[in-house]
Amino acid sequence: MRAGFPDFRLGSVLATSFTATLTERQGDALERVPTPQRLIDWLAVNGLAVDSCTDAQLERARELRESIHAAATATALQEDLPSSAIEIINDCSVQGRAAAVLTPEGERRWRLGPADSASRVEDALCVIADDAVSIIAGERDGRLALCASPTCRAAFFDTSQSRTRKWCDMNTCGNRQKKARFNAGQGRKSSSAK
Ligand SMILES: [Zn+2]
Repeated sequence: MRAGFPDFRLGSVLATSFTATLTERQGDALERVPTPQRLIDWLAVNGLAVDSCTDAQLERARELRESIHAAATATALQEDLPSSAIEIINDCSVQGRAAAVLTPEGERRWRLGPADSASRVEDALCVIADDAVSIIAGERDGRLALCASPTCRAAFFDTSQSRTRKWCDMNTCGNRQKKARFNAGQGRKSSSAK
């Protein structure tokens, strides 16, 4: 991690990990990929290493991110998908070139772009867009839900058995909620003691 930049919130689902590069959308929004280099870093951590990133490509990535967020939110609320979001997700899915390949150990890796050519941001975005398509289309085992934190409201993919997860991330939103409840409880106790 590079000093001076907000850390990444990484989850097990690529598309919603990507939307979590902007957190607290309904509060004090925090941009976790503020520079092209930070997008390169995020992609590398997620197995999508690219050779370079321009300001325009970062802009495009954010456009895809907010489109996935909008479409995932609509899905969680069982509302119609915004057509502009569908258009951007589809464009990103179509415009990139990426192929799933197997390692000798039988693990999946992504090969971005044709062999012997640069791995472009567009190629990485197509993998993310494709992942978003599969969860929004309901093809994967899980349910899209919105974080219960009023300042967050992130869309996350709930794969718990009971499908009753409330927070996008137990370590952040879940903990904060627990702390708030604890503090409220303490407050009541001290005022009733008076
Ligand atoms: Zn949250």
